[in-house]
Amino acid sequence: MNKPVLTIVVPCYNEQEVLIETASQLSGVLNELISDFLISKESKILFVDDGSKDRTWELIEKESEKNPFVKGIKLARNVGHQNALIAGLETASKQSDCVISIDADLQDDINVIRTFVEKYWEGFDIVYGVRDSRETDTFFKRTTALGFYRFMEKIGIKLVPNHADFRLMSKRALDELLKYKETNLFLRGLVPLLGFPSTKVYYDRKERFAGESKYPLKKMLAFAFDGITSFSVAPIRFVTFLGFLSVIFSAIAGGYALIQEILGHTESGWTSLMVSIWFVGGLQLMGIGIIGEYIGKIYSEVKRRPRYAIEMDIFSSNESGNHQKEAVLNKGR
Ligand code: UDP
Ligand code: MG
Repeated sequence: MNKPVLTIVVPCYNEQEVLIETASQLSGVLNELISDFLISKESKILFVDDGSKDRTWELIEKESEKNPFVKGIKLARNVGHQNALIAGLETASKQSDCVISIDADLQDDINVIRTFVEKYWEGFDIVYGVRDSRETDTFFKRTTALGFYRFMEKIGIKLVPNHADFRLMSKRALDELLKYKETNLFLRGLVPLLGFPSTKVYYDRKERFAGESKYPLKKMLAFAFDGITSFSVAPIRFVTFLGFLSVIFSAIAGGYALIQEILGHTESGWTSLMVSIWFVGGLQLMGIGIIGEYIGKIYSEVKRRPRYAIEMDIFSSNESGNHQKEAVLNKGR
């Protein structure tokens, strides 16, 4: 087997505090892997600037002049972690044999990148980085995340528990992933759907190196809700189930009301009538809300909007440079 070209894809949103450190640590890892003949010298780090408002892109550009491993693309605006990641993966896929995605904040243990690559050599197409402990996360984040994985499993969405977006993918697995054109991206749910030989590598998740989490509670909830409604019709089923229950319940209540009627106690029915009107009305509203959620999804999917736009590219620039030269040569002939 030829030594694989590895690209490490790093989405960055306002990461000026950590960027330089991340670049230098990842370069160290690449250097070691290259000198141990595990990966090709052509391997790169691809920073994706997700419309940052700070100096992130400036730093990426500067680093790329000093450090031959460092490349970058700048997205035209902030499109969110998942879309930024797919932008990077798609760009990287054109000139890599395998890719590793990792967050910019050094929370994931970069020392297991070597293990990832070794697993790739063993023939695995997908290697999931799985957090062994969540001690550095806040209690709140830990319990909500755990509850989320349990809930997802219950409603039939296969996720790798405690795996975020730190993983290695081979070119062929990545090419399959890129065929999924959905707008509401939830990569953690999509990757396990691909199949291919896959394995897990365990590591300890650390504290953010610097800067703040870009996932406040509101974004986290939206992300979880997206994950559920993008992969499962369980919420709709639940509403149907509630509907059934209420039908059965109202049949019983109806029988009761009839008996009361025969016995001549009609005015006592007023309370139960009011209660059931509210009850059924509430159910309907809830159902409509959830159905509306799915219709909203259909709406955004059918629009087939592009998921991102690349404003600047210092990753593929060499390649396109050659193309341009070729075009000039062809004209000459
Ligand atoms: N990120 C991004 N776009 C966003 C939000 C976050 O590219 O809109 C990046 C961010 O720079 C980081 C990664 O996604 O590299 C994960 O974000 P963060 O560390 O804030 O999330 P947490 O680890 O707290 O879940
Ligand atoms: Mg983080």
